[in-house]
Amino acid sequence: MVLSSVLGFPRIGANREVKKAVEAYWAGKLSAEELTKAAAEVKKTSWTSVKAKGVDLVSSGEFSLYDHVLDHSASFNVIPKRYVGLGLSDLDVYFAMGRGRQADGVDVPACEMKKWFDSNYHFVVPELSEETQFKLNFNKALEEYNEAKAHGIVTRPVVLGPVSYLVLGKAAKEAKDDFEPISLLSKLLPVYKQLLTDLKSAGVESVQIEEPILVLDKAASFDKQFAIAYAELAPVAPKLVLTTYFARLDSNINFVAKLPIAGLHIDLVRAPGQLDEVVAAIKPTNIVLSLGVVSGRNIWKNDFAASIKFGQKAIDALGQDRVIIATSSSLLHTPVTLASEKKLTEQQRDWFSFALEKAGEVATIAAVLSGSQDSAIAAALEANKVSIGKRREFEATSDDAVRKRVASITPEMLNRKSPFAVRKEVQAKHLDLPKFPTTTIGSFPQTKEIRTARAKLGKGEITVAEYDEFIKKEIETVVRFQEKVGLDLLVHGEPERNDMVQYFGEQLNGFVFTQNAWVQSYGSRYVRPPIIVSDVSRPGPMTVKWSSYAQSVTKKPMKGMLSGPVTILNWSFPRDDVTRKLQSQQLALALRDEVIDLEKAGISAIQVDEPAIREGLPLRRSDWDEYLEWAVDTFKLSTAGVTDATQTHSHFCYSDFDDIFPSIQRLDADVISIEFSKSDMKLLHTFKQYGYSNQIGPGVYDIHSPRVPSEAEIKDRLKATLAIIPDHLVFINPDCGLKTRGWKETEASLANLVAAARWARQNA
Ligand code: GLN
Ligand code: ZN
Repeated sequence: MVLSSVLGFPRIGANREVKKAVEAYWAGKLSAEELTKAAAEVKKTSWTSVKAKGVDLVSSGEFSLYDHVLDHSASFNVIPKRYVGLGLSDLDVYFAMGRGRQADGVDVPACEMKKWFDSNYHFVVPELSEETQFKLNFNKALEEYNEAKAHGIVTRPVVLGPVSYLVLGKAAKEAKDDFEPISLLSKLLPVYKQLLTDLKSAGVESVQIEEPILVLDKAASFDKQFAIAYAELAPVAPKLVLTTYFARLDSNINFVAKLPIAGLHIDLVRAPGQLDEVVAAIKPTNIVLSLGVVSGRNIWKNDFAASIKFGQKAIDALGQDRVIIATSSSLLHTPVTLASEKKLTEQQRDWFSFALEKAGEVATIAAVLSGSQDSAIAAALEANKVSIGKRREFEATSDDAVRKRVASITPEMLNRKSPFAVRKEVQAKHLDLPKFPTTTIGSFPQTKEIRTARAKLGKGEITVAEYDEFIKKEIETVVRFQEKVGLDLLVHGEPERNDMVQYFGEQLNGFVFTQNAWVQSYGSRYVRPPIIVSDVSRPGPMTVKWSSYAQSVTKKPMKGMLSGPVTILNWSFPRDDVTRKLQSQQLALALRDEVIDLEKAGISAIQVDEPAIREGLPLRRSDWDEYLEWAVDTFKLSTAGVTDATQTHSHFCYSDFDDIFPSIQRLDADVISIEFSKSDMKLLHTFKQYGYSNQIGPGVYDIHSPRVPSEAEIKDRLKATLAIIPDHLVFINPDCGLKTRGWKETEASLANLVAAARWARQNA
């Protein structure tokens, strides 16, 4: 029989119960016990509803109050010294690592966060050194296994594997220069042994042990470590299902097939081409193959016929008992259930599957492949065929005007009129900014009042005119504050935006919106990605009204604020019937018109945010060039339509750009702002070595935490920056937008930032 499996389920609750509970706990309005209870309810609902869909292998252990990698660190005692001895409970130490803590005399910043592979989920990076003393503080996989069992559901625990855990980690400050986290493997393995032994003793049959780094090029150099680790773990562990996702194993399959594992999971949505090679490699072994055919990353209904073809191919080679039908990855990256959507049309609803519906899909596909004669299964198969047929029909209709415009993009459209050096002079006159201009990344605190006004507008409790008045007042408040605190290049604060992608999606043709389709981005921050369903175009200006209002109330220059094409694409659920390149080009043309309209409206600096350009990089290096070419081209297409006098900005949240520097330069933005406060100087040295020629604002403080940076701290950051980057290229700004922050810390932090900038103007 072919089993079905779900690799992981969203942890946020169908109504964002976990966010509400966690935030209430942080605010002191909920006790730790109440938080645990709220979490237990969500877990129970997930397990029972996935089971009710007929899934055989239901996951447990991957639930989290903040981040699952952080859970592993807490469990393995990988707790940096700065969080120890503060008199905090274990739970508060955990949250302090996730988000920092500044209260009651305790002042610690958060640990670094990084993007989880090419997704928009962020994990908390483990900090490791020679001094790390691993021990098993608790066994979360076991706890959740027992918790589910108490509800009558036998689950398959999920554990992040030891090699990936270490490789995803970083060297702690106190580590020696040449320290490599993987060198700790032999010290870490006893902890995994204990964890897995305990699971086995509890009667766990199989464990989903995840080694997602196996889809990266660098995994090839860890072949020995994989061999050592799994040779040690397999004898004491339940059956190990080695799990990979988001890309292909490539030649790594050669050593993976030799590991003492009972099962292997591969992602066939992202890498359908790997099936034959993997099947051939494992055929002589007893390894069971778990086929990730139902996307854990997108929301389109599965095409059963295509999945069944994959499944049949594997069965023909391996037999039914060696094939599992699964989601391609954890469903963490998809919304909980379509049932929460009340506003989709019948046609739209028929296109989509969210997490719970996907659970039903794996169960149905597995049943078909097992030869089920059940009439309900036959009906589901037929219904799917009809749905997919209708979707294909819809896709076949395209917006000819948009397609023609894309076809007529010329190379000239990608380049500014003059090179940067010339533009810089023209802009200096036009904008008249001081040395070391200060600015922010765009958003200011999204207060409760703002969210309430938006909600009221949505419910029709206030008129559009009333809402617009409210937003204007907000903008004016933000402008007055910036004037008062002494910032140089102002922003309007983005109060009108629910989200930097959703806001644009709502004004463009080609998108569909959901009411409740939240996906976790980090900690208690969730996003609701729009869905691109057809060709994209701009019916009219999207931001001009607000930016020009903001400019009208101040003499200081106002920076317009847009989200870039690659970011809108990456943070939406994209179509899967056309290329990402085409979707990005369509978005770029819409944004180009907006940029030109902003310039016409008297806005002299325009920022086009591309925080997701790095994250969208394919996981395999051999695929990079193709991506970077269109990604950079589409950014340029959006921004290059303006005159030399207009200063273009771009912003990147995570600055892991070591290997894509030529592309950052090729963007040719007049100014880029980057996340920097938590990175080391190596980053700036790379900018220098590479000879980056345009202006740059390395973020001087971390905005992901409510903690206020001192003036001295910011000065230190600046001094270090100015030792590397030429004065005339430096802008001063925070790491990212301030929307998640409160006003109190924002005011204090920006006052310190401006003071540090004034100091630099005098002293540097
Ligand atoms: N302009 C956006 C803001 O400030 C940028 C956000 C981001 O980079 N994620 O909110
Ligand atoms: Zn950012």
